[in-house]
Order: sequence, then C-alpha cells, then structure tokens
Amino acid sequence: MSDWETVIGLEVHVQLKTASKIFSGAATDYGSEPNTQACAVDIALPGVLPVMNQEAARMAVVFGLAIGAKINQRSIFARKNYFYPDLPKGYQISQYELPIVAQGQLEINVDGQLRSIGITRAHLEEDAGKSVHEGFQGATGIDLNRAGTPLLEIVSEPDLRTSAEAVAYLKKLHSLVRYLGICDGNMQEGSFRCDANISVKPRSSSTLGTRAEIKNINSFRFVERAITFEIERQIDLLEEGGSVIQETRLYDADRDETRSMRGKEEAHDYRYFPDPDLPPLLLSDQFLDQVAASLPELPEARCARFVSEYKLDPGEATKLVDDRAVADFFEATVKDSPKEAKRVANWINGEIAARLNRQNLTISDSPVTPDLLSKLIQRIADGTLSGNTAKEVFSALWEGERDVDQVIDDKGLKQITDSGAIESIVDEVLNGFVDQVEQYKSGNTKVFGFLVGQVMKRSQGKANPKQVNELLRNKLG
Ligand code: ADP
Ligand code: MG
Repeated sequence: MSDWETVIGLEVHVQLKTASKIFSGAATDYGSEPNTQACAVDIALPGVLPVMNQEAARMAVVFGLAIGAKINQRSIFARKNYFYPDLPKGYQISQYELPIVAQGQLEINVDGQLRSIGITRAHLEEDAGKSVHEGFQGATGIDLNRAGTPLLEIVSEPDLRTSAEAVAYLKKLHSLVRYLGICDGNMQEGSFRCDANISVKPRSSSTLGTRAEIKNINSFRFVERAITFEIERQIDLLEEGGSVIQETRLYDADRDETRSMRGKEEAHDYRYFPDPDLPPLLLSDQFLDQVAASLPELPEARCARFVSEYKLDPGEATKLVDDRAVADFFEATVKDSPKEAKRVANWINGEIAARLNRQNLTISDSPVTPDLLSKLIQRIADGTLSGNTAKEVFSALWEGERDVDQVIDDKGLKQITDSGAIESIVDEVLNGFVDQVEQYKSGNTKVFGFLVGQVMKRSQGKANPKQVNELLRNKLG
C-alpha cells in the first residue's frame, strides 16, 4: 500500500463590492426583483458596447498589492465561449492569457505551522445570470440581475496538502477581502464561492496525480467535507487498481458525497480569444501609486503591532484583526487608556463578541460604543467597579443606558474601597462565625474562602475583594 499525498488547488470567485457592474452602469444590489437590474449591455442587446468599470480594476489592484503580487499594467479581456441560458451573449468576458494580477502569496497558519501558499493569478471577469426553478412549472425562469457583476477569480498554486490547509487558506482569503473592503464576503448570497481541485499521488512521486474539480462549494464546512470525501474516494479507487479520471464533480451536502457532473470528454472548449470590443486594460504608474498609498495597514502588520504596542497575546490580536471594524473598535476604545489594552481586548473578544454573536449583529451595531466601553473600563481600573458589578453595568449599557456613572449610582454598585467600612463588616463576620474562626486557627485553611464569601455577601458584592482578603488575613493572624 502506498503512502498517499493529497494535492489541492483552489479557485475562488470573489464578488467585488462595486456599486455598478463591470461593463455597464446597472446596479449590483443583491435580492432585487428579477431582471430589474439588467440593462441593455447585461442582456446583450445588439449594438451595445461594454465599458470597463475602473473601480473593479482598482479593487483587483488593492488585492494584488495586499498579497505581494505582480500587477500587470497591461492586461487583456478575452471571450470565454459557451452556451447556457443564463449567459445572454453566449460568452463570458474574462481574462485569460494576461490577467491583471499574477504571482502572489498568502500565508496560512494551521496548528501553529506557518505555510506560504502561492497564488498563480487573480483575474477580472463578469458573473452570469441565474436560472430560477422555484415557482415555475414546466419552465425555467432566467434572472439576469447578477449578469455582469464583477468577479475576481483567485487561483492558487497546487500548494495545499490537507483539507485543514484548504479551509485555513479560504478563511484567510475571506477575511482579507473583507478587510480590504473589496467584497462583502456573504457566502449565502454567493459573494465568495470556491471550486476545489483535488488529486492524490504516492508521496514519493514528483508528478501530480489526475485531479477532479468540485464546483461551487459555498461554506467552509462543506469545503472541508467535500475535500475529505474526495480524497478518500480517490485513494480507494487507486488502491483497488483503478484510476482517477479528470472530471468536474458536484458536492451533495445532504448525502455528504461528491458526484460526477461532467467528464473530460464533455469538457467545454471555450475558444478563448481577445474581446475586440474592449481595449487592453492599461494601468498607469500614477494609478498604481495612488492605490498603493490608499492601502490600509494590512492585517498581519496590524496584528504584529497590537502584540508589540499593546502587549496582547498573538491569539487575542489575531481575533481582533480578523474583522477590520473590530480592530478599529479596539483602537478607538484604547485611544484614551492605552494601559488598559488587555482589558479592552478581553471585553471585545469576550462579552461583546458573545452578545453580538447571540443576536446576530456586527460590531457596528454594538449598543456599547468605544466611548462607553472605555468609560466602563476606567471605572474598573480605578477600583469603582469589580468584575461582577462591571458586568451588571455593561448589561445596562447594552440595554440602552448611556451614562456609566449614572448607572453605577442608580444601581448602588460603587465598590467599597473605604477600608474602615470594610473592616467593620469583617469584624461583624468574625464575631458572627466564631466556630469557623476556631476551625481556621486550628489549621483548616479552607474556611478562609467561606469567611471571604460572608464578607462579600454582607457588602452585597461591593467590597473590594483584594482588601477583604488582606484585612481578613491580618485579623486571623
Ligand atoms: P484549468 O485551466 O482547468 O482551470 P488550471 O491549470 O487553471 O486549470 O488550474 C486550476 C486549479 O487546479 C489551480 O488552482 C491549480 O493549482 C489546480 N491544480 C492543477 N493541477 C492540479 C492537480 N494535479 N491536483 C490538484 N490541483 C491541481
Ligand atoms: Mg481555471
């Protein structure tokens, strides 16, 4: 039996977040009434001409620069010819021989192992329309709203070796394109979709095996499962003495299996040729400089800065930076109290993340704004609030309260730090629990926690726990 090695290359279609389509002025909004956003160009009326949307080119360049790629200052649009009902022109405008972006890298981290994955190319193309089956009997509807929506197809080298690496790569890419503001990342709506190419080979062999391509997988979980299934299918086949055929397969999530869709014989011959309606896409030095100057601080650099500047753990920093709006929220909160950065990170990654998640909200919806969070944390830092009372104040803010100190007053949550006041409660407890005090003095140190608990209880949770501990310890000798 051979020792098999898996080889995976991914093709990801990223829908660019432009307001209008790549070759027409029609809107790109998702979910509009069918065929209300398809203009003469999108439905391919005779005599129309495509005009390139510069914003789509800018977004492609932003991506290229972010992955350290080569930007081709001259790239070419080509016609990819095939016949399908949702493709009115009978061809898709794409890029073939000269894509706008080539040769980049994306670094992934799987269980602490860093690997650099090659990105062969990223090219611009238009999306097709959609066939609609629901609500039609004996007929198929065609909705051309999506026709002409700009896509960036990002093609990886066959560098990935496991389904876990493939998912890590996809998640990294997904996070990056959202961070850069070039894609909304909505996978249910098809804004980010993936084709997976998979082959296996004996580990010792230097030539790649024959691959199967699994089309249009639209969730991270399905990518993982589809690849895992496909690897096993191919290994079983090879071990039985069979061979893998090059084909396109579909992943069926209900049955958790992949099925053949079309073989090599039925593969399309796309007859690519340069589109005579579109001139070469030329990018000036000045344009590239402008885009480069507009790039935000990239996630990796920002993460490293959070670790060095604010002394966060790499894990915490990575979580914050995964979403640019969350990272911005963190910095806005920390601005006035940089020494409290760790506390801020804890609140954002903990309480806030949990609540947003539960209510299916994003950070921009958080009723607790950076200003409020910062104020709350100052009140923890200056000893007014304890961990528990801070949670209570936080809840009130989440429910709509807007003044931290007012909430503390109204609820009587101010922590007792007056040592005289604490001392009198400690004395009450020591006098009231004589037996326990005896037990403690005869060596049963576990009773200490009980006594602390009694003091806290009598202070309604407001005594400063550190002071309570110190006072009790002193008094018990
Ligand atoms: P096509 O022209 O059919 O799209 P490409 O050469 O563009 O093929 O490759 C498409 C994807 O398939 C790329 O991501 C590439 O890394 C991957 N790929 C190519 N050969 C293999 C292989 N033998 N096993 C796994 N993936 C592969
Ligand atoms: Mg391809």
